[in-house]
Amino acid sequence: MSESFDVVIIGAGPGGYNAAIRAGQLGLKTAIIEKRDNKKLGGTCLNVGCIPSKALLHASQLYEIAEKDFAGLGIKTSGVSLDLPQMLKQKDDAVDALTNGVEFLMKKNKVTTFLGAGEIIAPGKVRVTGEKTVELEAKNIVIATGSEVTPLPGVEIDETQIVSSTGALALPKVPKHLVVIGGGVIGLELGSVWRRVGAKVTVVEFLDRILPTMDGEVSKQFQRILKKQGVDFKLSSKVTGAKKNKSNVKLTVEPAAGGEVETITADAVLVAIGRRPHTDKLGLETVGVKTDKRGFILTDHFKTNVDGVWAVGDCIHGPMLAHKAEDDAVACIELIAGKAGHVNYETVPNVVYTYPEVASVGKTEEQLKEEGVSYKTGKFPFMANSRAKTNHETDGFVKVLADAETDRVLGVHIVGVEAGELIAEAVSVMEFGGASEDIARTCHAHPTRSEAVRQAAMAVEGWTMQA
Ligand SMILES: Cc1cc2nc3c(=O)[nH]c(=O)nc-3n(C[C@H](O)[C@H](O)[C@H](O)COP(=O)(O)OP(=O)(O)OC[C@H]3O[C@@H](n4cnc5c(N)ncnc54)[C@H](O)[C@@H]3O)c2cc1C
Repeated sequence: MSESFDVVIIGAGPGGYNAAIRAGQLGLKTAIIEKRDNKKLGGTCLNVGCIPSKALLHASQLYEIAEKDFAGLGIKTSGVSLDLPQMLKQKDDAVDALTNGVEFLMKKNKVTTFLGAGEIIAPGKVRVTGEKTVELEAKNIVIATGSEVTPLPGVEIDETQIVSSTGALALPKVPKHLVVIGGGVIGLELGSVWRRVGAKVTVVEFLDRILPTMDGEVSKQFQRILKKQGVDFKLSSKVTGAKKNKSNVKLTVEPAAGGEVETITADAVLVAIGRRPHTDKLGLETVGVKTDKRGFILTDHFKTNVDGVWAVGDCIHGPMLAHKAEDDAVACIELIAGKAGHVNYETVPNVVYTYPEVASVGKTEEQLKEEGVSYKTGKFPFMANSRAKTNHETDGFVKVLADAETDRVLGVHIVGVEAGELIAEAVSVMEFGGASEDIARTCHAHPTRSEAVRQAAMAVEGWTMQA
């Protein structure tokens, strides 16, 4: 006899496990299915995404600071050297601690976990193929199967010489020359890690700018900062092929618009051109769940076109981010439980965890221009912020975009140390429909970098006081 559940969730990433927690909290009988080979919950984010990348970004940044900045701060060190196996181990330890934490949360919320591949075999029926094959009855099925690396034709990933982000999180030695294909968040974060520990890094990007979805001014200034740190950029360029030898890879690169071909030799190549929804072998066709041309499951408030089948996270439209998947999950389960559920994608923050960080929420200046919205801009450089100056971390700025008539905050963009923490204030203000004046008249602790956010908000009405 198959066991029956109120909710069966396929995939245990931030979309799936948060859906399971919320369902458990609301008293729904819940099962979660996960097929990762390592039998760990947590999805891409905890196993091969957000968490391991941040563990390496943190450690490699401290290494670079110890090497380059300690002396200037009056700290004498000798013999600072890289212990790469230990750096990788502390990353794996962080992953283990957090994935075990998710397992604990499943038990705490009385969620039954099934390890194996989930497939919808009929309306309300899911088969799990793992060590044992079981069939589950489900009043509601939530698809939270996430995303996978988008391959690049002609540059086949072998996870040794040509790696995806997963391989780039575990390179056994520092490559002399790492070529990163794709100037998006993942490429720039992992490129930064390996540059800090000694690799020469070249980023090849098809478009004429890095971080193409971010505010233009932000991406320009950020590229300048990364260049100063030693990253090389080849913009408006495309990689058209890769030839592997025993010791290196020869990449053919040409201008995006076509033209003279050049060869770049690399010890390792990271393919980071994006991610695509992971929905194959799920049985979508069996029950008729509709997807778009790129494979994203089509939903209306997380409901697919098939009754009782829902979807959240990276496999549906919207920003492919862990916190967006989490918010989708909560809203979806609350709708299943008969409550109100909604996610405002306009206020999902986006962070690049480099040094300094880049963070943004809401509209970019380019978007506002395109939409014909009249807006005011306030900017403040960290060069004029007392905390940033004290800590010798003055790169970057805060930019606040507000509606010209109502003063409502429409977007906030930050390049600067701890930008990822600073953006939370802007997200809250925007969620409450707040104005730039609300930020400008709110008391901010001194000396903190958050004062730069306030000063930028003051600049919207032209009364910045500290620059
Ligand atoms: C290197 C890297 C760094 C990143 N850094 C950040 C960051 O700093 N911040 C951020 O917000 N986002 C980051 N992301 C993106 C983030 O990881 C994703 O947005 C997030 O994991 C999406 O969550 P999800 O639950 O939708 O899917 P996933 O986390 O991809 O989880 C889906 C799970 O479903 C499982 N699954 C798939 N099919 C089946 C099936 N048929 N049966 C059973 N299980 C199945 C998969 O094995 C997987 O574990 C990063 C991604 C990468 C690759």
